[in-house]
Amino acid sequence: MLNIVLFGPPGAGKGTQAEFLISSYELIHLSTGDLLRSEIAAGSGLGMEAKAYMDKGELVPDEVVIGMIENKLEANKNAKGFIFDGFPRTTDQAKALDVLLNRLGTPITAMLSLEVEKQELIDRLLSRGKNSGRADDQDKSIIENRISVYNEKTSPLIEYYKKQDKYYGIDGMGSIEDIAGRLKEIIEKQN
Ligand code: ADP
Repeated sequence: MLNIVLFGPPGAGKGTQAEFLISSYELIHLSTGDLLRSEIAAGSGLGMEAKAYMDKGELVPDEVVIGMIENKLEANKNAKGFIFDGFPRTTDQAKALDVLLNRLGTPITAMLSLEVEKQELIDRLLSRGKNSGRADDQDKSIIENRISVYNEKTSPLIEYYKKQDKYYGIDGMGSIEDIAGRLKEIIEKQN
């Protein structure tokens, strides 16, 4: 299996690049942000709990997102691979993912980390907020909080995957096609 962690701060372009990767490599796209927004749209208890955190730009508790990923992995055991987008976001999530994948006998292949300057992230998120209606993309202080949460709780995962020799930093500035080309180049080198 080809199991990719697509990594980076909010606004780095993970969702956009995931679209390209799933079509090129027939992978299952697992975005915890999308899964949480579907729960909110469905009005489930889990969705209501998650919304309170998301609206503030805080992380949803680990057990909630880990449970969602576990269900999706179980349901897609015969996939060609997975692309994890927005997950893991904490060290405990990364450890849980290793345990779950170990059970399926298929480890993470690579962690591809999109690197984008802070001002560009803020500009991209504010412009997305104008079209998407996402409340967390419309308020500069919530966006700043999400970037701080990324720096404090999520960016340490770079070390976690470096230790496993799976980390690849990618320049996330430039055109969508150029960035996609950079990702592809690294993926083709795996195996
Ligand atoms: P972005 O990467 O642009 O912030 P996402 O759609 O990935 O957007 O995430 C939106 C929000 O959903 C996050 O700010 C957070 O509240 C919640 N969320 C998504 N994934 C996770 C996760 N793995 N752990 C905790 N919270 C998460």
